[in-house]
Amino acid sequence: MLRFAPSPTGDMHIGNLRVAIFNYIVAKQRGERFVVRIEDTDKERNIEGKDREILEILQLFGLAYDDLYYQSRNLTIHQHMAIKLLEERKAFACFCSEEELEAEREAAKTQKRAYRYSGRCERLSDAEVLANEKPFTIRIKKPEERIAFCDLIKGELRFEPDDIDSFVILRADKSPTYNFACALDDMIHDISLVIRGEDHVSNTPKQIHIRNLLGYDKTIEYAHLPIILNEAGKKMSKRDAASSVRWLFEEGFLPEAIANYLILLGNKTPTEIFTLEEAIGWFDLQKVSRAAAKFDLDKLRFLNREHMKRMDPKELSRAFGFADAAIGELAKRYLEEGSTIREIKPKIEAIFAAKPYDGEWGDAMRQLRDVVKEAPHFEDFDAFKSYLMKRSGLKGKHFFKPLRLLLTGAEHGPDLSELYPYLKSYLMEIVK
Ligand code: GLU
Repeated sequence: MLRFAPSPTGDMHIGNLRVAIFNYIVAKQRGERFVVRIEDTDKERNIEGKDREILEILQLFGLAYDDLYYQSRNLTIHQHMAIKLLEERKAFACFCSEEELEAEREAAKTQKRAYRYSGRCERLSDAEVLANEKPFTIRIKKPEERIAFCDLIKGELRFEPDDIDSFVILRADKSPTYNFACALDDMIHDISLVIRGEDHVSNTPKQIHIRNLLGYDKTIEYAHLPIILNEAGKKMSKRDAASSVRWLFEEGFLPEAIANYLILLGNKTPTEIFTLEEAIGWFDLQKVSRAAAKFDLDKLRFLNREHMKRMDPKELSRAFGFADAAIGELAKRYLEEGSTIREIKPKIEAIFAAKPYDGEWGDAMRQLRDVVKEAPHFEDFDAFKSYLMKRSGLKGKHFFKPLRLLLTGAEHGPDLSELYPYLKSYLMEIVK
């Protein structure tokens, strides 16, 4: 079973979406289940409604999940497991206050060394523990040997016991920490492969250590995806608008193009333009580059145009608020001028908007409008054009300029002969 485990603590980032897509693809390839686990144990950071937003985004991308879990529902299991480790002396109660720990962290910083837990509470006797009435956390004891695992993208990785350290698994309020809840849930849900962002690499030995101490001997595979850099070469953060999936939608990028882009990014693929379904046929996690990949908005714009070109015209039409395939076809004629729904929408709206008749070409426009209103239906643009020229007596740019303004509301754009097949049944609405 594979899982996508988002925290409902902020907007969905393209990095998270990429993780969701990869997990989905590999689950389909391996014929395993794909589940979503909302990691909502950090009550202070949860944001109301973010879980629903994430699920809506998954739906828009066609990432159907077989099951949905909320991590907080496993709270009692998490607590029981922490107590079990405590009873088996694989974990200990830690009475160090936040202030004491903070002071130790500061001291480490000043001495320019990595902070490690002092080990103070591990040395307390049972009597001292029982006599202490202060609130306490539960810390797992650091491993005795190094922990190694083979990452499908990064290769063999090794971590020393000191780098894993004796870390907190249950907070003073008796809620589990991220590493503890995650390690247990991956075990409970029988996860076979974890695909997640590289920012979690240092958590992996901690999670393996937790399961080792609980006697879980099944190996979970790991693949950590390299980070995505912004166009300036820095780690993409919330400050980069393009990192937000919602922003990309608002800008008028199609889910098909975004998914295509995220699969292509830092990867070797047999083709450049493809659908999610097609990618299931050839995707190879091991071909994903170890190096960080740079986000390129122009490339995404190119892919968006390509996907708009291929899109069923009726479906594309809906993105512009119409139901008729002709509007989808019309929008496709504008792909030289815009790459997103948002850029093309004003062009379609201008065609249907009331036209101003007060400019340089106003008189000629009015004249053409009157002729068009009385004209019979012409299937063919040349016949339509000849009819209008004859009736209006206009020619050259004195004919074409006002005709373009009348039909499209713009001075420039695709050839009228290209647009006409999709405009011809709307002429009475256009010529207002
Ligand atoms: N909840 C974690 C996050 O959103 C994911 C952890 C994981 O995939 O293990 O970063």
